[in-house]
Amino acid sequence: MSQTLQSVRGMNDILPDEAEFWELFEDTVRSWLKGYGYRPIRLPIVEPTPLFKRAIGEVTDIVEKEMYSFEDSLNGEQLTLRPEGTAGCVRALIQHNLAARQNQRLYYLGQMFRHERPQKGRYRQFHQVGVEAFGFTGPDIDAEMILMGARLWDDLGLDGIALQINSLGQPAERAEHRAALIAYLEKHVDILDEEAKRRLYTNPLRILDTKNPALQEMCAAAPRLIDYLGAESLAHFEGVQQILRDAGIAFTVNPRLVRGLDYYNLTVFEWVTDKLGAQGTVCAGGRYDGLVEQLGGKPTPACGFAMGVERLVALVREAGGEPAAPAPDVYVVHQGEAASRLAFRVGEGLRDQGLNVLLHCGGGSFKSQMKKADGSGAAFAVIIGDDEAATGEAQLKSLRAEGVAQQKLKVDELAETIIDHMIDSDEEE
Ligand code: ATP
Ligand code: MG
Repeated sequence: MSQTLQSVRGMNDILPDEAEFWELFEDTVRSWLKGYGYRPIRLPIVEPTPLFKRAIGEVTDIVEKEMYSFEDSLNGEQLTLRPEGTAGCVRALIQHNLAARQNQRLYYLGQMFRHERPQKGRYRQFHQVGVEAFGFTGPDIDAEMILMGARLWDDLGLDGIALQINSLGQPAERAEHRAALIAYLEKHVDILDEEAKRRLYTNPLRILDTKNPALQEMCAAAPRLIDYLGAESLAHFEGVQQILRDAGIAFTVNPRLVRGLDYYNLTVFEWVTDKLGAQGTVCAGGRYDGLVEQLGGKPTPACGFAMGVERLVALVREAGGEPAAPAPDVYVVHQGEAASRLAFRVGEGLRDQGLNVLLHCGGGSFKSQMKKADGSGAAFAVIIGDDEAATGEAQLKSLRAEGVAQQKLKVDELAETIIDHMIDSDEEE
């Protein structure tokens, strides 16, 4: 027996029952983003590999071990399936000179790819909504992005998502802290795991981000970056917190929040739920003022965040937010050659009037077609046999409302009659 083909491990099909939740989620997200003046940008899924190495940093989980990279067999170019969206967004900003004349508020939604160990809430193909703003220097945009999160949880009917924030300061402040941190870690080198040892001199800050339980206590007592911040960085951080307090948004300052990517500075934040087990971060972001210049653009301050769609959809499902079942308004039943031809005309005519129509396909007896009509959840069946077709008529039968008699109508009266019935039953509710 030949082996059946399966999807790639960690890359999931999203079947209709689930995909309806996704559409509901996407509708909510798009109107929420419009409410804050964000505009869509659509970016390629494949980018040149050096883009991610330069943007994300060589000594990061993503670049070291999670990227799907390959050589284009036709021209030898090194390419990578995007593991995140910010790098490509900044690349596009520079390439099209978008920030030259005005600030930009942009968003995108789509697949990302990381070669991780698949588990609940962690996949190899997953989806993010990414939100990026370019050209804003003050703490106001950082705070606004955080307020956006709070509003979206509300729009989605979610609660219990907690906010953590931190400031990573500026590169010079980080350098000073880094020296102190390395000296501290050197004193504990005997308990460091392999990964931490490897990062000791390349990216010691990331050691604090470790998930290894054996290192937690040591990390908790490590020199804190926040103690190395100068007046300006502290004022920026305080500015963000002030706006959050004014808006009544609860938050915790977590000095160990350093984020997985190299490009952040000043404000970083994460929204975390305890309802998804270990993979509880649903939204993460912060400021990355150096990245545009680092990728060859003019210095442009920037701030952004990304949300994990799988994790948020799981939360929405758990909270019981059902998408409305998309039942058709009308199911068209037909038998006989003339009837079938008329049925197509009727179906299109009803759709012209804005009705959702399922046209029966695949033949079968009236009885079996009526069963399908019932099962579809449609409010009405339109029934056409060759007798009706000969006179340009059809039977209209209500499948849901009580006491509405079946009636024979001219086909061009169908839409109006159906719409009238729908208005009547709306009024009764
Ligand atoms: P983690 O520490 O959980 O690996 P991360 O720091 O790598 O997260 P980001 O790069 O900040 O994650 O991505 C933003 C969001 O995208 C995460 O908070 C999460 O909701 C989601 N996300 C990241 N990786 C995955 C994945 N492999 N599968 C599903 N969602 C993911
Ligand atoms: Mg990760």
